[in-house]
Amino acid sequence: MTVSDQLYPASRLAAAAAAAARAGLGALLLTPGPDLRYVVGYDAHASERLTCLAVPASGDPFLVVPRLELPAAKASPAGRLNLEILSWDETDDPYALVASKLGNPAAVGLADRMWALMVLRFAAAQPGVRQALASIALSELRSVKSPAEVAALREAGQAIDRVHAMVPGWLLAGRTERHVAQDISDAIIAEGHATADFTIVASGPNGASPHHTASDRVLRAGDAVVVDIGGTMPSGYCSDCTRTYVIGEPPAEFAAYYQVLKAAQDAACERVRPGVSAESVDAAAREPITAAGYGDYFVHRTGHGIGLETHEDPYIVSGNAEPLRPGHAFSVEPGIYPGPHGARIEDIVVCTETGCERLNTVTRELVCVPA
Ligand code: ZN
Ligand code: ZN
Ligand code: ZN
Repeated sequence: MTVSDQLYPASRLAAAAAAAARAGLGALLLTPGPDLRYVVGYDAHASERLTCLAVPASGDPFLVVPRLELPAAKASPAGRLNLEILSWDETDDPYALVASKLGNPAAVGLADRMWALMVLRFAAAQPGVRQALASIALSELRSVKSPAEVAALREAGQAIDRVHAMVPGWLLAGRTERHVAQDISDAIIAEGHATADFTIVASGPNGASPHHTASDRVLRAGDAVVVDIGGTMPSGYCSDCTRTYVIGEPPAEFAAYYQVLKAAQDAACERVRPGVSAESVDAAAREPITAAGYGDYFVHRTGHGIGLETHEDPYIVSGNAEPLRPGHAFSVEPGIYPGPHGARIEDIVVCTETGCERLNTVTRELVCVPA
């Protein structure tokens, strides 16, 4: 078996059709993006020209591609499947082609990331057909990772851990956040990712803004620096890991709440096991932070699922009573942002048959870089 047979097994098409039927959808219409890649392994080029995999709940699936994408589609993992591939020419109407082959199902599930341009063209080509999100069918499949997917996420986690291990060497007083972010981005690629997707380097007061990216601020002695980084591996699977560093001596209050944060992150990971709800993992992170008086400064959910997308189901948030299942992969990333500094610790974890496996193992102890 090749890597793509394990990561993107041929059985996915039938599984997607069955999930569509269970969700009351007559078909799934999947344009380039993670839903399409998940079902047939095709990392298709997204453009204004329609590429669309149609997966009827019953009947044969087919892939519609612009003629110029045909060689790429055939060379992709989709080409090894027993799947009809139809190409269309520049003057053809590919929406009419899909509609005429599908007939008139009562409802179709559209890839969650389909462009509005295509959603509206499908609505016009299939009048009276109810449009829904494909995730109502695919989420249950995509959120429970196979052993091959867990292995791909583990490989991504190890790659980003190697980058974090180098970060202290780049956090030098006098350099800008942007310079550090550039070093990190280069290393994300050098350590095996296909793309560097984000490099948050949030120093000093910027650390109090959870999604600050990187600016021209110059690092100084006494700064805490939140470094949240990730990329996509050639497999399609993503990494995402946060560590918070200090240059020189930590600010007075910082050292105290960092230990609260670390305990909270540990408590949340310890709560993870099959049958426990997603929201109770959020609560496990929140309780010690609230008890220590920092509850108002933990301003986001505890985590998000991860796979072919950095953020996907299941979300680890109050209100999500979904029980965890073996194979669920998600981040555990509490943060405390009181200003004029902040901290976050993030690992990707997998719910196993008996508990929790952390896919990031680089140290969570506070690393103080000599100033
Ligand atoms: Zn985030
Ligand atoms: Zn992150
Ligand atoms: Zn994250």
